[in-house]
Amino acid sequence: MEVKKLKMSMTNVLKSDLKKILLDCGIQPSFQRLAIFEYLYQHDVHPTVDMIYRSLSRDIPTLSKTTVYNTLNLFIKKGIVTGLTIEENEMRYDYNVKPHLHLKCTKCKKIWDIKCDASFSNLNLIEGHRILEKQVYLKGICRSCLKKQKK
Ligand SMILES: [Zn+2]
Ligand SMILES: [Zn+2]
Repeated sequence: MEVKKLKMSMTNVLKSDLKKILLDCGIQPSFQRLAIFEYLYQHDVHPTVDMIYRSLSRDIPTLSKTTVYNTLNLFIKKGIVTGLTIEENEMRYDYNVKPHLHLKCTKCKKIWDIKCDASFSNLNLIEGHRILEKQVYLKGICRSCLKKQKK
């Protein structure tokens, strides 16, 4: 019971923080936009539009796939979400906008965030080229799949 209470208050704090982030970049935090933003924040597996829509439309029956898509594009334009095209045919969305590397697991298809060192994140010139965006994609087998293999 205590744990449940604590979890609920944490969710509330989080919601108001997320709302503030939206407001700070000039986005009207409608119920649906906030729900999409919150989903991305809580699911760091880089979901697709479909994954977000399928999960949220259970609770928000008025939500359309187009709204999810348009909202994500707005978030990208404002710089609070990054779009990843690790596979040509699918766009994945990422709340974490700090530079980091991505590892796509060839077994479970999840995309994991990999921290990169500060020297890489602060690098703006590489061999005389100016860097505007850093996206590094790694492919491999993630630690949870490796663990399963060992069993
Ligand atoms: Zn895996
Ligand atoms: Zn990421």
